[in-house]
Amino acid sequence: MARHSFPILVAIDGPAGSGKSSVSRAVARRLGFAYLDTGAAYRALAWLVLDRNIDETALSDAAQADAVTALLKDFDYSIGTDPDEYFVTVGQADVTDAIRSPEVSAAVSAVARVPAVRQALTELFRSLAANVDRPGVVVEGRDITTIVAPEAEVRILLTASEEARMTRRSAEITTQSAETVAEQLRSRDRADSQVVDFMSAADGVITVDSTHLDFEQTIEAVIDVIHTRTKRAFNE
Ligand code: C5P
Repeated sequence: MARHSFPILVAIDGPAGSGKSSVSRAVARRLGFAYLDTGAAYRALAWLVLDRNIDETALSDAAQADAVTALLKDFDYSIGTDPDEYFVTVGQADVTDAIRSPEVSAAVSAVARVPAVRQALTELFRSLAANVDRPGVVVEGRDITTIVAPEAEVRILLTASEEARMTRRSAEITTQSAETVAEQLRSRDRADSQVVDFMSAADGVITVDSTHLDFEQTIEAVIDVIHTRTKRAFNE
């Protein structure tokens, strides 16, 4: 059979706590696809902003946006696309765990709304996705189905009720109270949804609602959509 010249692109968007990252990674692993966590790149840049003591709360000021844009020029980061060997580094620092800290989570939305940041990272994601040496790639984030890869063969919006998302996230983050985690998640969603709409499905995007599905069922629902859309079987 003729080999596809480009990897099959599976674009998955959704809000925090929808299970997007863990489900996307598991789907990639099962199908033998690569995996690209775009939120990790925004987080890595936010980590660098904090590391350099730039005041991210003032980023709407042109001067602060300029500072981040300048930082972007020497943003030497690397992100693993093998779902079994996931890592994120900035320069020599392995920031795989550090980018999940509450400080980075609180700073990331302000960094992600700088237009020059979005433009640079979008280009980077397109080139990373086009160059994986696997039959496909699962790219997950907030604007993958709409901005980064609107032409993707498979486009999915992974949602869950707010209650389910808060419950899942507070089970993951045990160092903070459930109320604190919920409030942080809500305020991040509010800030992020001013920049991109990841709460409603764009034309041609299939919604998978995981509110009443467990992890395994969500993986299967996503794989079903991939099969239906591509009409192909992969090495499961
Ligand atoms: O997916 P995750 O929650 O790790 O994303 C972290 C942050 O990165 C989001 O809150 C959002 O501000 C930003 N982001 C984005 N566009 C994407 C992925 C993430 O703006 N495609």
